[in-house]
Amino acid sequence: MTAEKKKSKRVALVTGANRGLGFETCRQLAQLGLTVILSARDCTKGQAAAKQLIERGLNVIFYELDVSTQSHMSRIAHQIEQRFGRLDILVNNAAILYDTWQSAVNADLEVVNQALITNLFGPWKLSQVCIPIMRRNKYGRIVNVSSGAGSLHYMGSGSPAYSVSKAALNAFSRILAADLHGTGILINSVDPGWLATDMGGHGGRLVEEGAKGIVWAATLPDNGPSGGFFFDGKPAPW
Ligand code: NDP
Repeated sequence: MTAEKKKSKRVALVTGANRGLGFETCRQLAQLGLTVILSARDCTKGQAAAKQLIERGLNVIFYELDVSTQSHMSRIAHQIEQRFGRLDILVNNAAILYDTWQSAVNADLEVVNQALITNLFGPWKLSQVCIPIMRRNKYGRIVNVSSGAGSLHYMGSGSPAYSVSKAALNAFSRILAADLHGTGILINSVDPGWLATDMGGHGGRLVEEGAKGIVWAATLPDNGPSGGFFFDGKPAPW
């Protein structure tokens, strides 16, 4: 099979893709000719989002996936196996709880736990069920959507649940990349920058700009980096 044919058959899964950065990432990946699984926890919203892209002629399919529900992870892996028999790209995008109202001194640890369940354990478990599918083709790209808030270099006061969950996600990216060295599966964390989405609010840059860095990491060549932290395709300080 030619390299071009292999590429045209590639399948990508994006979490939390009914709106914001996840939706735009699906659009950009589908525009490159990939088959994109747009996943969301809310079926009505997810189907409506997928419909918008399908109506533009893009190869997009909707699957339900709540990344805080363990049983959904094995279910979606099974669905992907059955329907496509392959998975090339996983974008762990879904996240919650940008807790600007909390400080580490008085943080509600139940809120911290919720952030960890969605922002860390979700990507972790989903990677675990997707890696066996990727391994078969000796090819995979896992993009963990992180944040400048997860950078120890820039870390200061505020949003403790979110910041700790993203710092832990970065650690997970590094460990997983080392575990999978030489397998053809590249894992990186990407900071999309401050974006004008529901989470980011007004004033951030366009979601199209943030998604470009995710797509860059999702389509790295075989000799591309793994275990890194990137912003707009350039190394970012941990
Ligand atoms: P939004 O809040 O706009 O969108 C978040 C998406 O995640 C929604 O689709 C939401 O679904 C989904 N989601 C939340 N919880 C779950 C879950 N348990 N299962 C499945 N989906 C879920 O955020 P953004 O688009 O701005 O953020 C996307 C990513 O970018 C996140 O990882 C975020 O941390 C990161 N980021 C964003 C920045 C910004 O400025 N916006 C800056 C740096 C990083 P629903 O509609 O059902 O709530």
